[in-house]
Amino acid sequence: MSHTTVAAYAAPAPKAPLERTTITRRELGEHDILIDIKYAGICHSDIHSARGEWGEGGHFPLVPGHEIAGVVSAVGSSVTRHAVGDRVGVGCFVDSCRHCENCAAGLEQYCTGEGGLVGTYGATGRDGEPTQGGYSTHLVVDEHYALRIPEGLALDEAAPLLCAGITLYSPLARWQAGPGKKVAVVGLGGLGHMGVKIAHAMGAEVTVLSQSLRKKDDGLRLGADHYHATSDPATFEALAGTFDLIVNTVSADLDLNAYLGLLKTDGTLVQLGAPEQPLPIAPFALITQRRSFAGSMIGGIAETQEMLDFCAAHGLGADIEVIRADQINEAYERVLASDVRYRFVIDTATI
Ligand code: NAP
Ligand code: ZN
Ligand code: ZN
Repeated sequence: MSHTTVAAYAAPAPKAPLERTTITRRELGEHDILIDIKYAGICHSDIHSARGEWGEGGHFPLVPGHEIAGVVSAVGSSVTRHAVGDRVGVGCFVDSCRHCENCAAGLEQYCTGEGGLVGTYGATGRDGEPTQGGYSTHLVVDEHYALRIPEGLALDEAAPLLCAGITLYSPLARWQAGPGKKVAVVGLGGLGHMGVKIAHAMGAEVTVLSQSLRKKDDGLRLGADHYHATSDPATFEALAGTFDLIVNTVSADLDLNAYLGLLKTDGTLVQLGAPEQPLPIAPFALITQRRSFAGSMIGGIAETQEMLDFCAAHGLGADIEVIRADQINEAYERVLASDVRYRFVIDTATI
């Protein structure tokens, strides 16, 4: 296969609606696999990027999509990890330096080496071409950056695990969510609903902190033990000093100090949502109870595989609404309105 033209949905310019277009995928290299994309999840990060909110300038037209599930349809001559017919996924990055301390430790997402992390879209690939994401019919990727999707996980429900799943699994594992631990998930959206499922499966006592009680029944069904509305000031009084760990998936400006007050002594608030603007932290909210404020970004390749295997073992796919490609812009509006239950997934056959 030489450079191939494939169908895709792209934002032609920042904030412009996405529209159908064609892009090229590179020639299949020695270590590359060709993936027939079946499904692509819509992450809130796609919206930040398509609207130019993270100020990277980016490459427009931009094809978003980093929750990719599909089937291998061709392999390069030296490929060993995947074979034609395998069900595979690709997440938020498609390359890294492979030599730095972090890459060597399986923390590719924090690559500090030359060239750094290569995002699945909006970045420049090692070949000098802009990378384009999963709202597309085909993808060529180095085999090292493709994950095996275990049997028992449907491809459409597996796609969102490649970002939403690993983004919650990684901090929940690192800060040891498990039996005896009280974990709060802030925001019941795409990330949050996977956080509830995974933290529950790890054995933690899980609380959802949502703007309202509108999705309470869902939250409890997903595995939460408790559900509170953050619009009610009584929530912050009743739950003061309760949690070992809080994972915040919200990208809006929250009063983080109010949430820090919900942590026990030595508790940690992990920021996952990525707002445009800095958020103020009151040092006293940390100092007085030796609390920590941390961040976490997706996960490495090995940990992403571990997460997929964990989710398959526990029967945890994402709760999804499958849409046609011509519904992407409408889906974006619904995500922005917190009207998602709980991930939109594009059926790429409709592109
Ligand atoms: P999402 O599906 O839109 O979920 C976000 C949730 O936040 C909403 O469902 C809503 O939950 C809550 N929310 C929205 N607006 C709010 C407001 N004004 N005040 C309080 N709560 C509000 O988005 P997502 O795909 O889960 O992504 C969430 C954020 O994480 C985005 O910023 C995304 O870019 C970022 N992200 C980070 C990583 C990482 O590696 N750290 C990876 C992926 C995504 P309720 O209705 O329950 O309140
Ligand atoms: Zn994402
Ligand atoms: Zn590296």
